[in-house]
Amino acid sequence: MLQGSYNSLLVLFSLLVAVLAAYTSLEMAGRITTATGRAARWWLTGGAFAMGLGIWSMHFIGMLAFSLPIRLGYDPVVTLLSLSIAVASSAFALWLVCQDALPTGRLAGGAVLMGLGVAGMHYTGMAAMQMKPGIDYDAGLFALSIVIAVAASGVALKTAFSLRHNSRRVRPLRAGAAVVMGLAIVGMHYTGMSAAAFPVGSLCVAATDGVNTTWVAVVIIIVTLAVTGVVLSISVLDELRLETENAALTRSLAQANQELGYLAWHDALTKLPNRVLLEGRLEEALANARVDGSQFALMFMDLDGFKVVNDAYGHQVGDRLLVQVAERLASAVRARDTVARVGGDEFVLLVPGEDQAGAIAVASRLLAVIGAPFEIDGHELGISTSIGIAMCPADGARGHEALMHADAAMYHAKSLGRNAYSFFDVSMNENMQGQLQLTQDLRVAVERKQLVLHYQPQFAAPDGPITGVEALVRWAHPKRGLIGPDEFIPLAEKTGLIVPIGEWVLDEACRQIREWLDSGACDWNVAVNLSPVQFGHPQLTSLVRETLERHRVDPRRLTIEVTESAAMRDVDASLRILHSLHEMGVRISIDDFGTGYSSLMYLKRLPASELKIDRGFVRELAHDAEDAAIVSSVVALGHTLGIEIVAEGVETATQKEFLTRLGCNALQGFLLGRPVPAADLDALSKECTQPSLS
Ligand code: C2E
Ligand code: CA
Ligand code: CA
Repeated sequence: MLQGSYNSLLVLFSLLVAVLAAYTSLEMAGRITTATGRAARWWLTGGAFAMGLGIWSMHFIGMLAFSLPIRLGYDPVVTLLSLSIAVASSAFALWLVCQDALPTGRLAGGAVLMGLGVAGMHYTGMAAMQMKPGIDYDAGLFALSIVIAVAASGVALKTAFSLRHNSRRVRPLRAGAAVVMGLAIVGMHYTGMSAAAFPVGSLCVAATDGVNTTWVAVVIIIVTLAVTGVVLSISVLDELRLETENAALTRSLAQANQELGYLAWHDALTKLPNRVLLEGRLEEALANARVDGSQFALMFMDLDGFKVVNDAYGHQVGDRLLVQVAERLASAVRARDTVARVGGDEFVLLVPGEDQAGAIAVASRLLAVIGAPFEIDGHELGISTSIGIAMCPADGARGHEALMHADAAMYHAKSLGRNAYSFFDVSMNENMQGQLQLTQDLRVAVERKQLVLHYQPQFAAPDGPITGVEALVRWAHPKRGLIGPDEFIPLAEKTGLIVPIGEWVLDEACRQIREWLDSGACDWNVAVNLSPVQFGHPQLTSLVRETLERHRVDPRRLTIEVTESAAMRDVDASLRILHSLHEMGVRISIDDFGTGYSSLMYLKRLPASELKIDRGFVRELAHDAEDAAIVSSVVALGHTLGIEIVAEGVETATQKEFLTRLGCNALQGFLLGRPVPAADLDALSKECTQPSLS
């Protein structure tokens, strides 16, 4: 037998390369598992190549470390075949460990296949020496080397499978496993080598002259190091990229979560806490009060005149106004107070640790900050707020009760004439119950024929004759007597009952016109008020037409009164409705003129026949030069546009003269005649000398 010897440096290198190859395969398994689709296939290919090359070069360096007294060489084709066996087994192994599961059966089968692959590579590589006569293999050691190869493969597959998920902790584990696996590969190799015996007189057919095997080994080492190095660096870079991406994703997820949480607790427009958050804080404050006996103020705020701004300038301006209101409120309170937006123009303020005097100070401050003019899109807007205050827990020991009571107090503040605050009082609760009862009663008022129309005459200025009458609805409540429209029209608008009520009013007014005509009484014009809610109803025009036809009434005998702000709400839609009514022949009157924000020039586009100056102006006329100036310019403009001017709310002779002098065409007011039932007008009708219809 020829005595073989080993170059110990190359043996050491072969071990290093084995460890490196093992580490690369573990890394690759991790990479393939995290990647998807095409990237995964690339990692499998590149990984199989680097790992196969690594295992193979370990084996080849091991061969080169071995020398015999005779010259040795390796057939390149067979050597390449052994390399491809290494790459193929690596690909198989990588594919196997990247499956979702690795049951024992599959692991065992994989270990056998891969072990045979590694052994196949080794013995094919040996065959590349083309010894003559053939190598004498010791059967026992040969079998042992295959057992080692299969066992090492099994351990490697199991380890790679369990370490395939990337994380920071897994790297050192992989390094340790790589050392173990490297040792196993090397062990298999040298066991296989020691199984081989070379009979004396053997000849290496593949031996080539003059090739320095050490240099071949160095080249192979460098190539292997380069390939595995490149693959590993790409792998690390890719992981860094994934980590940054992951970190960015995690951050944006966290942010999205935070925003979602924020949205759930805050109002999107004003960024103030919403009702949900408020109710939470309210419960908290009530719980604190139970524990330490503290008290706090709960303030319910509703803006006065917000609807008018919204109607006149549109929602965008309205929204901006709300945002500014929110900013002012937030800066007017302390950090521990809560300002929440709970509805369109409703805000609630929770002020902990305040007694009644403290609450008064806060409420006064709020009235002042909201009362200061707002500047929005070049418009200067003035609004105010009404505040209802519940002192808790005395005025409400439970959240919803406290809120309801603050709300009731707010309504009371509104009824005081707005821009005011009011503390809750038990009588207000009864009031609220009363409102509820009233709404119930209103539902049946039309069917039960409890509504009546009164008529208030209008006179040509200064002293007549009567030019027309305005129909004003009243409710003959079975228990409470005659109720004025100011008390139930807002309720009807809120509940939608205004639609059937409005239909009834129109029908009744037309019926009355027909009756007056049939009885030969005066054929004066009758004005009917239209709620903004009805005005937004698509069937309005056909309703008016059908009602007129039903009672055979000439459309020119009917005037529809719409308030300025209702007409301004949705200008284009309003114009459409007003024009179709106007074309029908119905007169259009703009009611409460001067209380809205319409520009006078806007009037030109309205097909109005008449304009009613609001009674607020008329009241102030004598003492307010500015109001007088406004009235006189409205009259002048109306006349140039061919619109008649009616002044309402004329109560004194001074007003009558003043308005006449300013050029008003008609006057309406208590001085000249109160609203009365139709029958009472018959007396007046005798004075009627000249029909208003021209
Ligand atoms: P309005 O359209 O401005 O009606 C005129 C109101 O002024 C009437 O009150 C009338 O009684 C009152 N008034 C008349 N002359 C004088 C006066 O010299 N001084 C004072 N201080 N007031 C005077 P009323 O009947 O209580 O109606 C109040 C409001 O209710 C009406 O204001 C109108 O907006 C609404 N309304 C009345 N009837 C109807 C209706 O049938 N449908 C709708 N949608 N609203 C109605
Ligand atoms: Ca009116
Ligand atoms: Ca009016």
